[in-house]
Amino acid sequence: MRAMVLDAPGTPLRAADLPVPEPGPGDVLLRVRACGVCRTDLHVVDGELPEPKLPLVPGHQIVGEDVETGERLGVPWLGWTCGECRYCRSGRENLCDRARFTGYQLDGGYAEFAVADRRFCFPVPEGYPDAQAAPLLCAGLIGYRALRLAGDGGRLGLYGFGAAAHIVAQVARSQGRRVFAFTRAGDEAAQSLALELGAEWAGDALGPAPEELDAAIVFAPAGELVPAALRALAKGGTVVCAGIHMSDVPSFPYELLWGERVVRSVANLTRRDAEEFLALAPRVPVRTEVEEHPLERANEVLARLRAGEVRGAAVLVL
Ligand SMILES: [Zn+2]
Ligand SMILES: [Zn+2]
Repeated sequence: MRAMVLDAPGTPLRAADLPVPEPGPGDVLLRVRACGVCRTDLHVVDGELPEPKLPLVPGHQIVGEDVETGERLGVPWLGWTCGECRYCRSGRENLCDRARFTGYQLDGGYAEFAVADRRFCFPVPEGYPDAQAAPLLCAGLIGYRALRLAGDGGRLGLYGFGAAAHIVAQVARSQGRRVFAFTRAGDEAAQSLALELGAEWAGDALGPAPEELDAAIVFAPAGELVPAALRALAKGGTVVCAGIHMSDVPSFPYELLWGERVVRSVANLTRRDAEEFLALAPRVPVRTEVEEHPLERANEVLARLRAGEVRGAAVLVL
């Protein structure tokens, strides 16, 4: 099968011809139709996440067809959990001590075929073409979890308006919340997308907020956004850091945290998040804005993501 392979962090992916993977007990073999490209893939490829499986097929937003049954299935980031540790036993499998992640410790979807544990695959909602469905599987799921943990506040700030934020904005609007989009200064493409999707304001993330926020979700991997978001927050509000990697957070005066403001991270997802969000997405309805690329262009797509040039989400289509 054709695949794009990471041999070592910090090097480009290599176009390779690999044997079709063999499913083990409880696994499904999927013919991959589309695989979303996530910022986390970039962190893996750039060596910002420790000890990936090597060589590795990246990609954890897989839409594929079960080779045996023909069923269309989605494969997310959470690829396997132990079921036994204190986190797994308390409904927090996203924090499992021995979790394995797709496209990181397990081969992912930058390939014509992929193997996945059936217990961690989900039916893809009908009505979404393959490429439009792919971003639901990470940008959507993690975004949804971040939104849930941000609380019920009516005024929501989204810091970084990429794949996840463009989905969360639609969910938040459907819940009657007001959405404010904070982007890099002068990023007109992201700002116009945010306004199209129902944000009432879009502007510079490091400039003043137009009004107080009840919650903020930081999707961009830039630590300086944490005090910026805190500065915009009303008393009792929450800043959720939704990325798996972030540059150091600069020090800030305690006054920014005072007033029962909260800073927290969101890690991974549970299968329950996936079930809830994939049922919710068609009801909103969430529409994903995607740019489609052939598998062999994965390196160029990662470079576009690194440079902040992707509008909405990028997807490799097979
Ligand atoms: Zn566990
Ligand atoms: Zn992801």
